[in-house]
Amino acid sequence: MRYASVALDIPTRALEGAFDYAVPPELEGDVVVGSTVLVSFSHRMAVGYVTATSDAPPDGVAPERVLPVSQVLAPAAFDEGAARVAEWMAREYACPLCEAIRPFLAPGQKVRVTRASEDAPWELQTERAGAVDARWAALTPTADDYVPARSASRQRAVIEALREGPQRVAELSATIPGASSAVAALERRGVVAVTRRRELRGRDETTLSSAAAPRPRRLTDGQLTALAAIDEARAAARGDAVLVDGVTGSGKTEVYLAAIERSLAAGGGALVLVPEISLTAQTVGRFRSRFGDEVAVLHSRLSTGERFDQWDLVRSGRARVVVGARSALFAPLSEVGLIIIDEEHESSYKQDKAPRYHAREVAARLARERGAALVLGSATPSLESLERCRAGRFRGARWSRVEMPERPAGAVLPRVTVVDMAEQFRGGGRSVFSAPLVDALRGVVERREKAVLLLNRRGFASFLMCRECGCVPECPHCSTALTYHERGHMLACHTCGRTWPVRAFPDPSTACPNCGSRYLAAYGVGTQRVEDELSALLPEGVEVIRMDADTTRAKGAHQRLLERFDAAECAVLVGTQMIAKGLDFPEVTLVGVINADTMLKLPDFRAAERTYDLLEQVAGRAGRGGRPGEVIVQTYWSTHPAMRAVAAHDRSVFLDAELAERAEASYPPFSRVSNVVVQGRSERDVRAACDALAAAVRERVGGAAGWEVLGPADCVRARVKDRVRRHVLVKCPPEAEVGNLLASCAAGLGRRAGITIAVDVDAYDLM
Ligand code: ADP
Ligand code: ZN
Ligand code: ZN
Repeated sequence: MRYASVALDIPTRALEGAFDYAVPPELEGDVVVGSTVLVSFSHRMAVGYVTATSDAPPDGVAPERVLPVSQVLAPAAFDEGAARVAEWMAREYACPLCEAIRPFLAPGQKVRVTRASEDAPWELQTERAGAVDARWAALTPTADDYVPARSASRQRAVIEALREGPQRVAELSATIPGASSAVAALERRGVVAVTRRRELRGRDETTLSSAAAPRPRRLTDGQLTALAAIDEARAAARGDAVLVDGVTGSGKTEVYLAAIERSLAAGGGALVLVPEISLTAQTVGRFRSRFGDEVAVLHSRLSTGERFDQWDLVRSGRARVVVGARSALFAPLSEVGLIIIDEEHESSYKQDKAPRYHAREVAARLARERGAALVLGSATPSLESLERCRAGRFRGARWSRVEMPERPAGAVLPRVTVVDMAEQFRGGGRSVFSAPLVDALRGVVERREKAVLLLNRRGFASFLMCRECGCVPECPHCSTALTYHERGHMLACHTCGRTWPVRAFPDPSTACPNCGSRYLAAYGVGTQRVEDELSALLPEGVEVIRMDADTTRAKGAHQRLLERFDAAECAVLVGTQMIAKGLDFPEVTLVGVINADTMLKLPDFRAAERTYDLLEQVAGRAGRGGRPGEVIVQTYWSTHPAMRAVAAHDRSVFLDAELAERAEASYPPFSRVSNVVVQGRSERDVRAACDALAAAVRERVGGAAGWEVLGPADCVRARVKDRVRRHVLVKCPPEAEVGNLLASCAAGLGRRAGITIAVDVDAYDLM
């Protein structure tokens, strides 16, 4: 008799791990690791996933008492290695095993079962639409003469993408919203030909698509060094990591492409992760043009059926290069030679719902499991990765860093000026634009060039700030900026939970606690105001384009605004964070940052790092063409290391100061920070549960070295959708395990009606 360990899909912390079932002889061939089965549990039917099989009956149970597997519902979606990674995720991120397994399942698979009649077998419900979409689109010879209507931006995007070679319609839809109808329209006009084929193999087609790949004639020295390090990591086959630390435009993507080529030649595939917002037709095109039909694209904008199509290509071994967002990590690729994470510092790699994993950490674990190399790329690497490279090791793997400090074409970095806004204010300036920024804008207009203005919206208006000295009241116990709550007229510390009525704290309605000035105000300006002031400032004939959450709500609006900016002769683009990335307009010669420091005041230890990353990214938008670029950074905190580092083009100015602070306060990379959030409608119940939780964690932690429990305190977002939110922060040493501890403390509270507890290990969102 064979036996199977089954992880039941009943998500509760009380049900830990997998349960053992017997495999009836007639199901033996189908009950394998990764398959979905139906079993009976507590007198009910339950869906579960097989995580292991064995010939030996489970310990301590008489074989005849082991219940049988009732039915197989879906074939294997993952293998033993993946099952081990899922088990690790469940422990590491304090979630039920079934929640850690779900990302590995075939797209669209649901937990619910139905059957046609009493005697019919049960069937899993799925939400995917029938057959695999095998439609390929290609440009016809008439495409060169075709000019789409001005309004047909999608058609233009589709044609642009197809210039790189034929693509699956499903794949186009992944990167161009509404691509499917645009393809249909183009097909009617004879510009695009659509053929149905299951595969696009064979020499001819591959040569055709790779014809568009501009393979550089020679790799730079930096690129060669990076490749050698990656080869070495791949040969070591134990999950070694290589951090490719290269300035924007230094040719990191080319390193990835060349490394994948070598991995494929050695029989291994590659998983390539890019941040959701950079997953554009252009990005996908670069991989497709080099690897043709070996590429599968996995992405949340795909329909479920399309995602299944791509997933199935990987499972069947037809696609060995997977390009996608975070979730591409879970693709059923059996031979993984390389795992690549582009822009590894991006906080979007942390999933904000269960399982709350960080893609970098899962990738590291997966690389170890598969004997693959992990490649991390960024112009502003995370402090975590830098620290691991400095130490040379992390969790049994080697971590090394390769620098690529130059751009292949030898383009020069822009000149950066930091403007002290408090000084401007004292000099009588009341505008959102400083005198130097006004001058620079006028220069751009005279020369008929383009400018980009960034308005930092995070942290908007939640602080009281002195306009004369820039002071923001801080908690004397936590050195965290106090948040201003207009409703209760109070200042609150969201780290320790203390509050001050505004009248009791050095009274901000009368004077600044630092300099005595009376110009204290809630902090922040909106894009609307910037747009208005700008229109008054600039002469007629300069287009001002505003890009923020309001103007980009409609589908495709983002793209249309960028196209307007592109088409204009002379224009200023004003926008929030969304403009910082990926913009590549050679005519932009000025980048202005209206308020560089809003994020610095957020009660989040990564605030300075995020500010630095953002400034570095946005500064990289200036002077990409032949003309030199200029960057003007307006701030009330010109002495902050992030500002000084950007001004001096010297990252160490920021890093040295930031690392010293993190070490001093014991924050990552010198510790792990986990956030446990308790929510519910009743404030009293939430308080009671959060107090009990904090007490349980304190008891478990005891006086262990390097451990610290902070709170309970109200969350910064203290009330969301009428639910009260309180939290406890837990710090522990960098290599300590904390998931199990927090999971068992949470489970120990028992079920409390109306209360939910979210455990976020290595939290990125502390608010
Ligand atoms: P990154 O990913 O670091 O931002 P990219 O890989 O996009 O940089 O490269 C920037 C530009 O430099 C691209 O246009 C690319 O084709 C080009 N490039 C990359 N490597 C080389 C090289 N060795 N020689 C010449 N041009 C190169
Ligand atoms: Zn405090
Ligand atoms: Zn002041």
